[in-house]
Amino acid sequence: MLSPPAHWQPEAPLELLHLDWLNRSGIEVAILRLDQIDPLISGNKWFKLTEHLKAADLAGAKGIISLGGAHSNHLHALAAAGERFGFPTVGLLRGHPQDTPTLQDLQAFGMALHWLGYGGYRARHAPGFWQPWRSRYPDLQPVPEGGGGLPGAIGCMQLKAMVNEQLSGLGWRDYDGWWLACGTGTTLAGLVLAEAGEHPVHGALAVPDDHGVAQQVQCIVQEAGLVDTVYELLDASRGGFAKVDPLLLEFIERTERASGIPLEPLYTGKALLALKQQVDAGKFPRGTRLIFIHTGGLQGRRGFNPQR
Ligand SMILES: *Cc1c(COP(=O)(O)O)cnc(C)c1O
Repeated sequence: MLSPPAHWQPEAPLELLHLDWLNRSGIEVAILRLDQIDPLISGNKWFKLTEHLKAADLAGAKGIISLGGAHSNHLHALAAAGERFGFPTVGLLRGHPQDTPTLQDLQAFGMALHWLGYGGYRARHAPGFWQPWRSRYPDLQPVPEGGGGLPGAIGCMQLKAMVNEQLSGLGWRDYDGWWLACGTGTTLAGLVLAEAGEHPVHGALAVPDDHGVAQQVQCIVQEAGLVDTVYELLDASRGGFAKVDPLLLEFIERTERASGIPLEPLYTGKALLALKQQVDAGKFPRGTRLIFIHTGGLQGRRGFNPQR
């Protein structure tokens, strides 16, 4: 079995964020701590994996083969799940052999690793790419990079229920929308599917506009046959994926000190800074209640040296 045992139901705590700029504008934000679902398995990548694991089970696969970079949160969650639930995992890596904290974890979790170089990795969407890997690992099911696509989005739909169960604990009866970082937009698409127009979903893009996130979200929504959608995508990339600047780093440091919540600069830090800028600009009326998703990624920041 690739799926976790039924009793393993990861719960992300939902906590009120206390920050001066929120108090000032009368906006309440509750943060869904996907970074806290498990000591080993962290973040939105777990939820993106769940449907892929179920499908692999149904197909009779014994394990999973997937792809990512040397700091990949996706491979990290996959390898941790393999270790935790006892199934083999293989990771195909972008670029040439290097040593990062992420890679050390992947190896410790028992993931078999293959380096594809850059050209080899770029060919991952080419027809026939998987064929040699399927011959080499006939018992393993391939999962796309990042655990994306409709199955990835469906796995993220459960986040709405997870929030609903915890609203009364905050003294909230309802909320006015979601705010989260987007890379491929799969997690956002899952929320858009779960909401079916009930609450808006605001996506803060960690990648520049030209990465086709809007098209990918549209694709998933159409494939799911959903008609009612309310969402928007805002550029929060600050000049490019993984680009950081002094203002961002200072914001993260200040926010971590004030809230006690660790952030990382690629996704959650940028998404929260974009929220602050929108709040300061008066985007939301006083009394607005938002759910901010902490999508995890803290493992990846260990090996990340900011390029200012
Ligand atoms: C992958 C990732 C995201 C982006 O998720 P998508 O579903 O690709 O939009 C956001 N935050 C963190 C920490 C991630 O690892």
